Amino acid sequence: MKDMRSLGILGGTFDPIHYGHLIAAEHVHYEFGLDRILVVPNANPPHKENSEVLDADRRYHMVELAIKNNPILELSSLEMKKQGFSYTVDTVDHYRNQFPGTEIYFITGADSLFFMDTWKDLRRLVELCTFIVVTRPGYSIDRKNEVLEKLPHTLWDKMKQLQIPGLDISSSDIRKRVAEGKPIKYLLPLQVEEYILAQGLYRKDGSKSNAE
Ligand code: ATP
Ligand code: MG
Repeated sequence: MKDMRSLGILGGTFDPIHYGHLIAAEHVHYEFGLDRILVVPNANPPHKENSEVLDADRRYHMVELAIKNNPILELSSLEMKKQGFSYTVDTVDHYRNQFPGTEIYFITGADSLFFMDTWKDLRRLVELCTFIVVTRPGYSIDRKNEVLEKLPHTLWDKMKQLQIPGLDISSSDIRKRVAEGKPIKYLLPLQVEEYILAQGLYRKDGSKSNAE
């Protein structure tokens, strides 16, 4: 895209994508006037190596279904194509090289701050992009918190915070609900819900999940 001044990146596992992710992207786009936002599903997330994560192709497809009618959101296969671990600093580096002169904003929910000290090259990452941290129910963004106060001051100084309508929705809760046979309607886009049910994803018997 020519003359792109600002690019948002929303990384995540998206296992599955839900309205919490979408509302974060929508509000960040509006409030910060970003030209566009890339949704970047990770291949094999470093922080979730011990848990079972659905294969990247189906997580990617669910994002595709969720964002297809939204012109400001674009799906990126960058991390998926790499296979294995992917690190935010490498993703941001990649897009800085692809779009020189474009300001990069990395969008994340408040919960991510609580394990950000484990992120690769965090200090360099802070230099390469601006963090936009959106509120998330259950996580307060308090610099004096004993975990958060240990994060680099450059991160705090540069960080932008955005209060968004609180949606207490998480992918792990959605997976649990499906496993328990509980409804997930209105927690995520209808097409994603239909795909989950048709594919038999996240069911306790695991009949179709991660198979085929
Ligand atoms: P899981 O429960 O499996 O960790 P999740 O719902 O946290 O899933 P992720 O794919 O881990 O989803 O999150 C991707 C990004 O979206 C993270 O930066 C996370 O903080 C943010 N995010 C997810 N859900 C919400 C929400 N309800 N409100 C605000 N931000 C959210
Ligand atoms: Mg999460």
